[in-house]
Amino acid sequence: MASFQQHRGNSPRPPPIPRADEIALFVDIDGTLIDFAATPETVDVDASLPGLLRELHSLLDGAFAILSGRALAQIDTLLHLPWLPVAGQHGAELRSAEGRITRLVDDPQRLDSARAALAELLAQAPDLRLEDKGIALALHYRVAPQAFKVARQVADVALACAGPGFELQHGDCVIELKSSRIDKGRALAALMTQAPFLGRTPWMLGDDHTDEYAFAMAQSLGGAGVIVGARRPSVAHHALADVAQARAWLLQLTRHALQHKGAA
Ligand SMILES: [Mg+2]
Repeated sequence: MASFQQHRGNSPRPPPIPRADEIALFVDIDGTLIDFAATPETVDVDASLPGLLRELHSLLDGAFAILSGRALAQIDTLLHLPWLPVAGQHGAELRSAEGRITRLVDDPQRLDSARAALAELLAQAPDLRLEDKGIALALHYRVAPQAFKVARQVADVALACAGPGFELQHGDCVIELKSSRIDKGRALAALMTQAPFLGRTPWMLGDDHTDEYAFAMAQSLGGAGVIVGARRPSVAHHALADVAQARAWLLQLTRHALQHKGAA
């Protein structure tokens, strides 16, 4: 997988509040908008989150998208905003502003031999949990972080079974076997070629190693990366301490945008 050079100079700074009519905003979900839970299914989405996202989408004239490792269907179940622009599974599934869905990888059978090998290996590794996303296989070890070494060995075997065209992507207590054609940076770039994102400055908020691709892409397009949480190193130029600060920053962005609209 690609490695990223840490931002040189000062450590990431708190982000300023940008003008909502100038930016396109991309936001990760887990560890950024909501706190982690023991499993991806047991996260707690508080009642105010969908309203905040709806308001951001409106104030940014639609130039707002979710970039997540979760599957598109799972994101819709969590947020109840089935019209929102979304890159699911790191961009393997893209929903545009008009609601058009593009699947960049659509052949779950290609992972069948890796799937079979994992079924056998996981019978001996009760601390690991397999999430079968169809076109990607995620190995979670959040319930037992000490199982990381075993997870890595198991993931290496799965990668060898999958063969060329696949790679391992390390996230927060998860190793994912996925197509090497997909990452959040490419997803961000793809959405930036389309209205209403086109012509705006991209900002990306995320917490995980997988978000580094999108930070790097946003910054290479003249925008900003904002890392949420304490993970370092990061290429992001800006940082917010945790989910609460990220939510507070997004709320401030909506207030500034409303004031600006009121003054115009
Ligand atoms: Mg995350």
